[in-house]
Amino acid sequence: QEKINHFRNQHKINVYGTDIPDPVESFQQLCDEHVFSSKIIENISESGYKAPTPIQMQAVPVMLAGRDIMACAPTGSGKTAAFLLPILHQLKGPRKLGFRALVLAPTRELAQQTYRECLRLSEGLGFRVHIIEKAETARKKFGRKTSQKFDILITTPNRLVYLIQQEPPVISLKNIEWLVIDESDKLFEEGKLGFREQLGAIYKACDGPSVRRAMFSATFAHDVEEWCKLHLDNVVQVYIGARNS
Ligand code: ADP
Ligand code: ADP
Ligand code: MG
Repeated sequence: QEKINHFRNQHKINVYGTDIPDPVESFQQLCDEHVFSSKIIENISESGYKAPTPIQMQAVPVMLAGRDIMACAPTGSGKTAAFLLPILHQLKGPRKLGFRALVLAPTRELAQQTYRECLRLSEGLGFRVHIIEKAETARKKFGRKTSQKFDILITTPNRLVYLIQQEPPVISLKNIEWLVIDESDKLFEEGKLGFREQLGAIYKACDGPSVRRAMFSATFAHDVEEWCKLHLDNVVQVYIGARNS
């Protein structure tokens, strides 16, 4: 335990919560201890990632343990892979259950970037990864009459809310296992109250038996923490660097 604490200090990993999983030091450790598929490890190294960043060291094992997480780490510190990798591992492979993972991003540009990173990290695993374009296209692609052969959805919240509020809903979120809210501080910013309502609607629609949630942001925001304490289950908080930086 002292070794773990020393390791966390070394990498400026601060954690709060109970029964927090140990951080990993290398990607190989994910392979050895968490039986990551060699394909994922290959995709990581194809991306040029040699060692996990501090947020990846700690957030990946937390999510692999199926724990709700609130994570804060500076911009450019690899938060995208920190949530995508455990999700790719846990979804195992493609299914016909409709979307099982949902990533919300505050802007379409960010959704696009995350989508590209997801394609890269999931190459060869067979997952169907999608972003939402037009509402009508979405109905044809994801509606109830389709085969439901899709796994991961990356989108801005507003268009998703529109689709789930159709009667019948164009997209079902009842099989969602992971709800990720990326740049959650932005989604909660002052003057963007719309986002909070949208989030509420989406959160409610993810009503499957085993939904876990992950909030990622670059800065600590009290509003996000409040929301997490209210809505998340036995949350693990992970901060890289000082909590208020
Ligand atoms: P954040 O979301 O924290 O701002 P990103 O996930 O966008 O950061 O990652 C920033 C950059 O770092 C991206 O170009 C990404 O490909 C790269 N990156 C992510 N993880 C690693 C890693 N383990 N090693 C090297 N580069 C990485
Ligand atoms: P976001 O902010 O999430 O990118 P948009 O503001 O583009 O979302 O709107 C969401 C999408 O949902 C739009 O592209 C549009 O196709 C559809 N949409 C939203 N509201 C309506 C509406 N009232 N009637 C028809 N389509 C709508
Ligand atoms: Mg990011």
